[in-house]
Amino acid sequence: MAGFFIDYLCAVKNDKKDIRALTKAQLRSFFVEQGDSAFRGNQVYEWLWQKSAHSFEGMTNLSKETRAMLNANFVINHIRVDQMQRSNDGTIKNAVRLHDGLIVESVLIPTKTRTTACVSSQVGCSLDCKFCATSRLKRMRNLNPDEIYDQVVAIDNESRLYFGRPLSNIVFMGMGEPLMNYNNVLKAIDKITSKEGLGMSPKRITVSTSGVPKMIKKMADEEVKFKLAVSLHSAIDEVRTTIMPFNATFPLKDLREALEYWYAKTKNKITYEYVVWQGINDTKEAVDALVKFCRFAPSKVNLIEYNPIDDGEFQQASEEAIALYQSVLEQNNITVTVRRSRGKDIDAACGQLANKS
Ligand code: SAH
Repeated sequence: MAGFFIDYLCAVKNDKKDIRALTKAQLRSFFVEQGDSAFRGNQVYEWLWQKSAHSFEGMTNLSKETRAMLNANFVINHIRVDQMQRSNDGTIKNAVRLHDGLIVESVLIPTKTRTTACVSSQVGCSLDCKFCATSRLKRMRNLNPDEIYDQVVAIDNESRLYFGRPLSNIVFMGMGEPLMNYNNVLKAIDKITSKEGLGMSPKRITVSTSGVPKMIKKMADEEVKFKLAVSLHSAIDEVRTTIMPFNATFPLKDLREALEYWYAKTKNKITYEYVVWQGINDTKEAVDALVKFCRFAPSKVNLIEYNPIDDGEFQQASEEAIALYQSVLEQNNITVTVRRSRGKDIDAACGQLANKS
């Protein structure tokens, strides 16, 4: 362990390292190696996470020398909200600039009783769901845990400022596939839920995935406490592969097996997100397949309104088709909700995040 930090600093050839990549234990050891106390590590950790400090200069309970030493060795790669747009329904969309100039978007969705943050997990997305605007952006990189955490802090601040209440829920439904940035998403959730971070209950957090079976099983093994949502959109392989081509690699059989495993381990109900499109999944056969899929593990269905992404290839199904889904699901005792879109006028709704502005 001795000299660990010397190696660590040499390895980055004097490039300053993101201090928030260090764990609390590493930060404590760093100060001990500097001849200071481990307690100093606790103080800095608190500034970084609980107080969301943007600079070392602002860490007022540290000596000038300590602040200068930190400045010489590390950076705080804080995000910057470059642009904030407000929808006429109250939804707020942030264009978030990362330290390397890349941009992601996050959204605040207010209702009477809740404020939900919809956060991004990747810059762009490696999946190619045909109906999603984000899929048109190349996946540039994964977000770091602190970049995910900062999006949440920014929205919590906006929630307090504009709605007079703290953030109540978080959904990983922004840009990217959270389970393809698994470690960083889990680290961010650790910080969001820990007392040394925001202290939010994991029950108020939902991770939404297109369905990566191996990672769903891994989450189940790690007994995570947050909720799981799966973007299903079709329970028929041929149809799902047409609209979500990665289904060819991770077919429904594997997804189903992973979800059964998830429920057995966590006893946590699954939410299926589902858009009904004209000519794609607006048939009785599609509804019956969904009902059958819902039987594998306790679940509920969230019928999402389609948010057009310009090219007219996909059209929201008729009211009758949606009503058919609702009635058949209800007859089969499956909870179903219909979710109206929010923030459409500023391209902040599901699947519309594409850094347009
Ligand atoms: N990659 C993750 C999270 C991002 S997408 C996932 O697939 O779940 C968040 C949700 O928006 C998903 O349910 C997705 O299927 C849905 N979505 C994508 N494009 C949409 C669109 N144009 N209209 C409505 N919902 C859309």
